[in-house]
Amino acid sequence: MVKPAITYKDFPGDPFKGWEPDDATKGAARVLQWSYESYGNSLVYACSFGAEGIVLIDLISKVKRDAEIVFLDTGLHFQETYDLIEKVKKRYPDLVIHMKKPDLTLEEQSQQHGSALWKKNPDQCCYIRKIKPLEDALSGVDAWISGLRREQSLSRSKTDFINKDERFKSIKVCPLIHWTWDEVWDYIRVNGLDYNELHDQNYPSIGCIPCTFAVDGTEDSRAGRWSGFNKTECGLHVPSEEQK
Ligand code: SF4
Repeated sequence: MVKPAITYKDFPGDPFKGWEPDDATKGAARVLQWSYESYGNSLVYACSFGAEGIVLIDLISKVKRDAEIVFLDTGLHFQETYDLIEKVKKRYPDLVIHMKKPDLTLEEQSQQHGSALWKKNPDQCCYIRKIKPLEDALSGVDAWISGLRREQSLSRSKTDFINKDERFKSIKVCPLIHWTWDEVWDYIRVNGLDYNELHDQNYPSIGCIPCTFAVDGTEDSRAGRWSGFNKTECGLHVPSEEQK
């Protein structure tokens, strides 16, 4: 395979810096095209099958029908999430969806760290069930795709299209940085895409059952996650020094 133009080790900055896209996808389609041309099969999408995920899968399938998708299967997801994954498999049969499981089963985690680790130490639980599995999944590829949007939080507000990912020593591609929450939902409705039914029951952001709660009348798309803890991220997304 041809060596990609931009690697983690010699990252020159976002090649799209300063570009103000005016197309219908706010730059996402072009960034995905560039990314698959640059990284080929060494690019995976780590998808949580939230609203942004459904949009990205649809956009990705137009560029690379047999793209590789990784779902971090913590063993603690809602049945509605697994149902959605089955619908996505039917709609996009050429996509390759990997259900990446942690090294420890839930029983082994309980034996080693006590039951309901998410109540005592959610950071450690997220490390075991999400971060380490993603680390393993990314160890053999040059780049990964994420659905981060700038408006989601202060820590995501400086995210570029193409980023140096210090956490996973990789290139992180974020095609949806300019999208608003409303635009995500407009795209889903206009294109008739399947989505997680829990979104209709006041769950804007959906993760593991113990750490996801319905919310009431909020605009915050990350609300309802790790309620009661001073935690809004699972640790997968760490801004680079320049983006802090
Ligand atoms: Fe554990 Fe909650 Fe993190 Fe899921 S979101 S891995 S249950 S702490």
